[in-house]
Amino acid sequence: MSVDELIAQRDRARQDYEALVAKGLKLDLTRGKPSPRQLDLADGMLAAVDRAVSADGVDLRNYGGLEGLPELRAIFTEALQVPVGQLLAAGNSSLELMHDAIVFALLGVLPGAERRWADEPEITFLCPVPGYDRHFAICERYGIKMVAVPMTPDGPDMDVVEQLVAADPQVKGIWCVPKYSNPDGTVYSDDTVRRLAAMETAAPDFRIFWDNAYAVHHLTDQPAEIADVLALCAEHGHADRAFVFGSSSKITYAGCGVAFFGSSPANIEWWVSHTSKRSIGPDKINQLRHVRFLGDADGLRQHMRNLADLIRPKFDAVDKILTAELGGTGLATWTAPAGGYFITLEVPEGCAREVVAKAKAAGIALTPAGASHPYGDDPADRTIRLAPTYPDLAEVEAAITGVATVVRLVAAEKALSTT
Ligand code: PMP
Repeated sequence: MSVDELIAQRDRARQDYEALVAKGLKLDLTRGKPSPRQLDLADGMLAAVDRAVSADGVDLRNYGGLEGLPELRAIFTEALQVPVGQLLAAGNSSLELMHDAIVFALLGVLPGAERRWADEPEITFLCPVPGYDRHFAICERYGIKMVAVPMTPDGPDMDVVEQLVAADPQVKGIWCVPKYSNPDGTVYSDDTVRRLAAMETAAPDFRIFWDNAYAVHHLTDQPAEIADVLALCAEHGHADRAFVFGSSSKITYAGCGVAFFGSSPANIEWWVSHTSKRSIGPDKINQLRHVRFLGDADGLRQHMRNLADLIRPKFDAVDKILTAELGGTGLATWTAPAGGYFITLEVPEGCAREVVAKAKAAGIALTPAGASHPYGDDPADRTIRLAPTYPDLAEVEAAITGVATVVRLVAAEKALSTT
């Protein structure tokens, strides 16, 4: 494009941006929260319990049952690919369980470990990028060094992962969101899962933090299936390698769901040796509420289909608007996930921060640029996470149309500044 053409393009984009600002929008695409209508679909939970007794006659009002209600664990065993006996139902947040797993490993000796992680000179976690900022925040809080690993359409780049874990015994873990990952919607291929399970690690106490937060969050009628990480780890002689996490936060109520932890028998024993000091048992009435409301694995599947009917139009709208506004311009690429909660928008290098800042000035709040990278630092300044579930459809449409305008302006200004 000639400089004159670029200037004309920039001026057009500026006018569109000024018109956008003049609208005085107040829209928020920052966090992956369920919309009120999604939450309404789970309101059956509010009246689901009138008697606090479990299937085997236990009085759920009392202390006890640290492992969680067996009938709830039975509903989630298939979705999380963890045998019921190795799956625990806990409190309302899986992030809390991931946090605790790190703290327990720092302060107690993991199965297979030579010493507590706190006694190691340094601990490193591999962080596939783009990834989930709250994973990175836990590492940062506890002084765990993070090394970014690029994502591929099949999951983390396994050539890089295999090399890093083999070379350094201080590399103790990797964060994985294996299905419809946050934020790019990637589904790990069977080969990726097999390589994660089979790879040789210099650390004897290496752990995969398998955050299967979106295990059942399909947006199409072809649910993605991933390989069974616990079974593959055991098959390759690394039975204690994977910690599996999940929750019903984006199934029932985000603030009052149930979180799950699954792993090998040795890891479960280790986990309970810590949690039994911390609690006399979880909120079993909330767990019963979930059992009554969901019923069984088929009930869970049906509920997810009902939720998808609310979410899909928003994902479709994002793709349609970005295609109409930016398709073929070379100014952006974006993912079109088949499930989960997020879309990743890639803008020209060096533009993401400016896009987020200008969107904010126009009343459109986006997740901070860099949030999808360790230490909030996206070296290419290119990746933006879009979270379309919370606003209603008209708001999503307005916000994405606005984002496209901002991308055109920022990209034109950037192109001019480098000519
Ligand atoms: N893991 C991932 C990948 C997530 O995207 C989220 C929510 N944004 C969570 C965990 C949080 O889960 P919970 O509500 O169970 O703490």
